[in-house]
Formats: sequence, structure tokens, C-alpha cells
Amino acid sequence: MLEVSGLSVAYGKHRALDDVSLSVAQREIVVILGANGSGKTSLLKAIAGVVPKSVSRISLCGRDLDKMRANDIVEAGLALVPEGRGIFGELTVRENLLLGAYAKRARAKERENLERAISLFPKLAQRMKQAANTMSGGEQQMVAIGRALMSAPDILLLDEPSLGLAPVVCGELFASLGKIREAGIGVLLVEQNAKRSLQIADRGYLIETGRITGEGSAAQLREDPAVQRAYLGVA
Ligand code: ATP
Repeated sequence: MLEVSGLSVAYGKHRALDDVSLSVAQREIVVILGANGSGKTSLLKAIAGVVPKSVSRISLCGRDLDKMRANDIVEAGLALVPEGRGIFGELTVRENLLLGAYAKRARAKERENLERAISLFPKLAQRMKQAANTMSGGEQQMVAIGRALMSAPDILLLDEPSLGLAPVVCGELFASLGKIREAGIGVLLVEQNAKRSLQIADRGYLIETGRITGEGSAAQLREDPAVQRAYLGVA
């Protein structure tokens, strides 16, 4: 279980996140909905330890993460798939996936984790020797998620995974998130595709100008008129 309380991020004088608290259980998909610039990326980066923050507490399965460096946070069981994927285009799919297995917690189970990533994204099996930058956007996203899974995370953070993908590819991607949940992993998802993400998520939070302004089950959020107006295109 990931628990965050009192998390704030500032870039100079600009406060991007203010006193944010949230939780993600294992085997749960939690979506963060917010407009452009509301602080969603900053939230994921702060939890993953890649931007400076002030925080009361971030803990994962009872272990404090708030003072850990980013690589120790990966060792503790949390993996971030950043916006834009962050894969190495010149490297092959296999090399990209294996880079995710550098975490000590994952080394002993490298083969098992590779098989799990491939079973989740069977298309990657035939592409293992292909340079990642010659793959389609959807396939590159599979590589990025597969690489994060190679570190055997308890919690996966995903920043806009469906951005720029065709609808049919989005469908495959969201189906894979369901399988990741079935494997016992908790998912914290930032998504502009509110409709699809509320179909698959268990719970969600609304974020506006750096503050959490609402939360509920996915069903409650789908029925909320304010959510429907702001994110689901209902007049
Ligand atoms: P988007 O949906 O457009 O990606 P977001 O909700 O992910 O936006 P963030 O990227 O977290 O929002 O940005 C929150 C605020 O912090 C914005 O006003 C942004 O301009 C600002 N910001 C983000 N990164 C930096 C930075 N490195 N330096 C200064 N300001 C930043």
C-alpha cells in the first residue's frame, strides 16, 4: 500500500502541489484527473523522488520513502513510467526491458519478470531484437511499461500512457492495466482519457491547481456532474 500525506512541490516561487494526500492499495487502479498544468506530473515525479518536495510522509508497505533517493525508491518497490515513455530508442526492445531489471530486488527473477512482461504484451515477443525507436507509439508504450515491470514493483506510476495512441491501441493498453492489477500490483494513473480510465479504475482523485479537490470510487466520479462536465464531455 502506498500512502502519501502532506505532499507539496514548488518550482522556485511557483507552488505546483499543495498538501496532497492520497493512497493506492495493492491490486487497485487509482486515477488522477486534472486539467493541463494542475500538477499531475509533478505529483508522480515527487512520489518517485525525481523532483524535490516537502512532505509529511510517503510510505510503501510501511516503509518510509520520503527521504530516499530515486533509485532506492525503485528498490523499495515503486516504478515510474514517465510521460513520453523515456525509453532508449537506439537500444533493442530486449535491452530496454533488461535495463529495468537493474534493481537488486529484481535481479534474481529477471527471467521470470521478462516472461511476465512478454505475457502481458505478447507483441513484444517477436520484436525483441528491434530498435525501440522503430516501434509504433503503442509498442513503445508497451516497452516502457514492460521495463518498469522488470523491477518487480508493488506500485506502478503511469504518466499519460495513452497520449497520442490510436483508439484501438488505447483499448489494448487499458486492458493490460487490468492484467497488471490482477498480478497484485497497485497502479497510480495520470490520464487525459478520463472516460477510459474511469472505466478501468477502482478509485480516483481530482486535482486542481495543485490541490486535491475531490475523490471517490470510479462509479461515483463517473456519475458526478462536475466530472462529467469537466472531463467526460457531457454538456
Ligand atoms: P500537463 O497535463 O500539461 O502535463 P500537469 O498536470 O502534469 O500538466 P505539471 O507538469 O505537474 O502539471 O505542472 C504543474 C505546474 O508546475 C505548471 O504550472 C507547470 O508550468 C509548473 N512546472 C512543472 N515543471 C516545472 C519546472 N521544472 N520548472 C518550473 N515550473 C514547472
